[in-house]
Parts: sequence; structure tokens; C-alpha cells
Amino acid sequence: MAKVLVVGGGPAGSLSAIALKDHEVLMVEEHQSAGFPMQCAGLISEECYGRLKRYSDCKLNEIRGAFFIAPSGKFVELEGKSKAVVIDRKILDRDLLEKASEFAEVWVKSKFMKAHGRRAEIMKMGERTFVEFDYLVGADGVYSRVARCFGFERPEVLSAVQVECRYEALSDDMVELFFGCSDGFFAYAVPIDEYARVGVVSKSNPLCYLKNLLRRISDRISGKILELNVGAIPIGLVEFVKEKVFLVGDSAGMVKPYTGGGLFYITEATEILAKTFPNLEEFRNRFVEDIGREIEFGMKIYRLYSKLDDEDYDFLIELARDNVEIAKDLHMDRPTTLLKVLPSLIKIVRRPKLLKKLLSVLAT
Ligand SMILES: Cc1cc2nc3c(=O)[nH]c(=O)nc-3n(C[C@H](O)[C@H](O)[C@H](O)COP(=O)(O)OP(=O)(O)OC[C@H]3O[C@@H](n4cnc5c(N)ncnc54)[C@H](O)[C@@H]3O)c2cc1C
Repeated sequence: MAKVLVVGGGPAGSLSAIALKDHEVLMVEEHQSAGFPMQCAGLISEECYGRLKRYSDCKLNEIRGAFFIAPSGKFVELEGKSKAVVIDRKILDRDLLEKASEFAEVWVKSKFMKAHGRRAEIMKMGERTFVEFDYLVGADGVYSRVARCFGFERPEVLSAVQVECRYEALSDDMVELFFGCSDGFFAYAVPIDEYARVGVVSKSNPLCYLKNLLRRISDRISGKILELNVGAIPIGLVEFVKEKVFLVGDSAGMVKPYTGGGLFYITEATEILAKTFPNLEEFRNRFVEDIGREIEFGMKIYRLYSKLDDEDYDFLIELARDNVEIAKDLHMDRPTTLLKVLPSLIKIVRRPKLLKKLLSVLAT
């Protein structure tokens, strides 16, 4: 039985602690509880929810597809292979932490400060404490101290701002994705009853882009902004294993680079961890085998966002309106499903400049 120190009580930390339940696990979380502040739109695939629902009944809404909205306001309604679910992250994080505490010792208000060799310094309720470990898991989010302490490469980071407000959605069971309204990414509205989580992810200045978006959709917003959250999204998987130290979740860049969604990869990584621990090389290889190609292709889609201009988005969305069947085999967690339809898509894009952009990113 190995002594494992898990840093971070978010979904990656709690699911890692659950995965390592046959070992002696100590999980430290710097806050009083998990899930605060909530920095998540809560949109995950049904498949991902299927893995989480055994721990938490946190579903708020069911989603059957998305409206892809062009800068001109034209939109197309697309339904892919996968359905989605909107969840309550506060409830999920709380329930996962509670489940993890059945198997692991959990210290809240306890911050990992640094480590030397196999000894970590923890500030526990304001008091310096030292903990010995055989393995150290950095599940401490995008600005991971564990990663910095052990010299792990860091991913690129995007900024995100999200509000919750009363919202007249185009449809109660469809997400709205707004393109061309942020720097290098997109904006979204995720509906929950009469409300929505409206957010923007961007390379810079997301608040400014969010204000523009809120102005644009102001006729569908009523009442006060209920919650405003600022967050960060890591882009690009980094090397996440170094001897007996490893990273899981945002700390490792385990996030879909084309949507910013992290929960699916966390469930995937921790399922693999449960099967492979303590063989960390196998843990790493199996995760990269399963998901590496998806992340690589997802990175191409992410790079495309910076290449496309308003005219391109308008044209592509108009094109999709005449070819909605193209979306039917696409899976929200598996962007390589796009490869199947790419040849037919390329055939119908009769704009040399746009085609060049698509091919320069997607076909390399
Ligand atoms: C605006 C926004 C919207 C998003 N929407 C979605 C979505 O719709 N779907 C989706 O799948 N994903 C979404 N994501 C991404 C998702 O929220 C993250 O991928 C996920 O929270 C990562 O989980 P994690 O456990 O790795 O990190 P976190 O959730 O960040 O948890 C890390 C934990 O570590 C603790 N911690 C940090 N440092 C220390 C330390 N030194 N010592 C002890 N504890 C520490 C923190 O307090 C925190 O509790 C979104 C992100 C943002 C910013």
C-alpha cells in the first residue's frame, strides 16, 4: 500500500483519491470546501455524466444540440451523435469530495506550499505541517503549485468570464455558441430553466467581449446578473508524469482545447489511473493512447479559431444550414469524428482563401 498525497479537492483530486482507494491517501484542499467559486458552464456529454452520476445526482438540464451563431446573427441548429447534460458543479464537487473522504483522509483549509524529495510542506489551518509521501498527485488546477515546484512544463492559459442571468433561450434544450465575438475562441449560452450561463473564453480581455455579447443579446436578458465568475482554461496537454509525481486535470492541461471542457478527460484519466497505479508510465501511455489523438486534433480546431474571420464564420454557418446532416456523426468529446466528414466538407467550400486556411490547419 503506497502513501499518496493528493493536492486539490476539485473533481480531479477527488476522483484521483477515489481511484486510489486501496492506498493510504491524504487529500489536501486549500479552501473550506470544493466547488467555490464555481468556474464552469457545467456542460458535459451524456457519456461523461454516466461516469459521474454514480457519485452525484447533479443534472440540471438535458441538451440535444447547439445553435452555431455567426457574427451576422445567422445561425444553424445542429444535433450531433452525443447528447449533453448541464450539471450543477457546486453539487458535483461537494459530492465527489464527500465520496473521496470515505476512502481518503481529507484536510480542508490546508494548502500545499512546497516539497523536497518525498516530504511536503502543508499550511494546515494556518500551521506549518510536514507530510511524507511515496507518490504526489498535483490536482491543484490550472496554476498548479505542484507542477511549478517539480518543474513541469505549463500549458497556454486562456481567460474566461461567465455570468448567470435570466435568459430567453432560442430553445430550452439547445446550447448557443457565438463565433467571431472573442479573440481566438467563442462565447456561449447554456440554458437552465429560465436562466442561462453566458460566458466568453478569450486570449485576452474576456470581460470586454462579454460586455459586447451581453449588449448584443440584451433583448433576451432580463433582471440582474446573478453571478459573475472569472476563470482560466489551460490549452494543450503537457508531460504529466515525472517519476513519482503526476498531474491530473487542469494542472496537466487535460482539457478539450476546442471547447475548454475538462470533466470528460478527468473521468477518463482517473479511470485509467485506477487500472494502472502504481505503474505511472502505463498510466501516461494509456491516457495518451486513448485521448492523445483527440487532443491533437482538438488543438487544430483551436488554432483555426484564430485564423477564421467574421466572413469565414458567416460563410461556414450558411453552408452548414444547407448540410445539417454533416453533424449527425460528430461527437462532442471526440473531435476526430470530424475527420469522417472533412473530405465532403472541403468539396463544398468553394472559397480558395477559406479552403487554404482550413487545409493549412486541419490537414497538417
Ligand atoms: C468559465 C469556465 C467554464 C467551464 N465550463 C466547462 C464545462 O461546461 N464543461 C467542462 O467539462 N469543463 C468546463 N470548464 C473546465 C472545468 O471547470 C475544469 O476543467 C475543472 O474544474 C478542472 O478540475 P480540476 O480538479 O483539475 O481543477 P479545479 O476545479 O480548479 O480544482 C483544483 C482544486 O485545487 C485546490 N488547490 C489549488 N491549489 C492548491 C494548493 N496549493 N493546495 C491545496 N489545494 C489547492 C483549489 O482550491 C481547487 O479546489 C470550464 C472552466 C471555466 C473557467
